[in-house]
Amino acid sequence: MEVSEATPKAFEHEAVFERFNQFVDQGVELVRQGRFQSASSLLRSEEMAREIGVRYDRHPTGVIVIKPPGEKDAESIVSAQALFSNFDHGYKATREEPLIVLSPISFSDEARKGTRGEILRRIQQNEALVFLEEWLHAKQWREGKPLCGQEDSEIDVAIYMRNKGIELTPEFLNRHGRAAVLTKTKAR
Ligand SMILES: [Zn+2]
Repeated sequence: MEVSEATPKAFEHEAVFERFNQFVDQGVELVRQGRFQSASSLLRSEEMAREIGVRYDRHPTGVIVIKPPGEKDAESIVSAQALFSNFDHGYKATREEPLIVLSPISFSDEARKGTRGEILRRIQQNEALVFLEEWLHAKQWREGKPLCGQEDSEIDVAIYMRNKGIELTPEFLNRHGRAAVLTKTKAR
């Protein structure tokens, strides 16, 4: 029997790629199902980042909610979280070692107890969408091209999510001019 000539390195490369795609798919599925907290805890994976050659910010600036937020506060909370989160790269301008920053939102006991269910859920939904967004930027970087053929990487991730059946929030759509573009392009 002929022994395969495939080098361990090439094999390992393929395996990492496979694991990464599975990881992203799993995140997509959890968000699609509305399991936002499970999605967020899955996606905060330093190990996955390391495997694909991305630095993972262990001490990102987070948002700490100390009092039960109303609608307006919730908007500020999720926009700060989105601002602090980042995949620092450029899928055209190659960077040797990108950095992924996932800014967490945490609640004091008082805030958690006092926050209306729908507001809490909206905050958690936005947090999960942003975490997924940063990993999708990592996927763009790894693949060296847009995921849905969109030149604008921010539009590209939004269309990717929508095509996967993920519900996008107004806050998410209002960033990077996504809303205007997404209403013009039909869901697949
Ligand atoms: Zn983005």
